[in-house]
Amino acid sequence: MLLLSVFTLQFIEAKTVNLKGKVITIDVGHGGRDSGTWYGKVYEKDINLEISKVLKKTLENAGAVVYMTRDKDDDLSSKWDARKKRGDLYRRILFIQEKKSDLYLSIHINWFNNTWHRGPEVLYHSINPNNKVLGENLMEQFKKDFQTKRTLTTTDLYLYRNTRVPGVLIECGFLSNADERRLLQDKSYQQKLATSIKKGVMNYFLEIG
Ligand SMILES: [Zn+2]
Repeated sequence: MLLLSVFTLQFIEAKTVNLKGKVITIDVGHGGRDSGTWYGKVYEKDINLEISKVLKKTLENAGAVVYMTRDKDDDLSSKWDARKKRGDLYRRILFIQEKKSDLYLSIHINWFNNTWHRGPEVLYHSINPNNKVLGENLMEQFKKDFQTKRTLTTTDLYLYRNTRVPGVLIECGFLSNADERRLLQDKSYQQKLATSIKKGVMNYFLEIG
């Protein structure tokens, strides 16, 4: 009986803290002059930051060391950058590399002209073969937790095609869908997203070993 409970405890511990020692950078989309997509006074950059803060706590509770590319309403460009947006993205890549991240997660919110589109989705670039594995694990978890019909797709955007550290772009949902717009600003829904992402990340590390 005692042996059984010791075994059970170790099993539970392994299951709950298995991001121990992993370094994860959350790339908080947009910021400052760049609001991302918006609806009225609801800006993507603000929701990205809110979700990222919840995600940071959630990953830290699972044992990970977590960095965020920004923790306030600012972008990363320097006053010397002739092209502000490119400078911002370039510095995000440097940040991810300098932190010696095991992986990065870019947090964004989607927009589509057809308002019925909804659900979280994941995009990746094949610069690192692990990106697809990470994307599959995250998307699989999203399908379980949100019954979404969205699928894993590829992206050729600058940041993703130039970052060698494994990572993906997560579009957490659609600001263009009224119901999802409300949910994305809701604390408990943000936590649901964060928990789902944490599970996907754990499964990724289990898969790559
Ligand atoms: Zn965005």
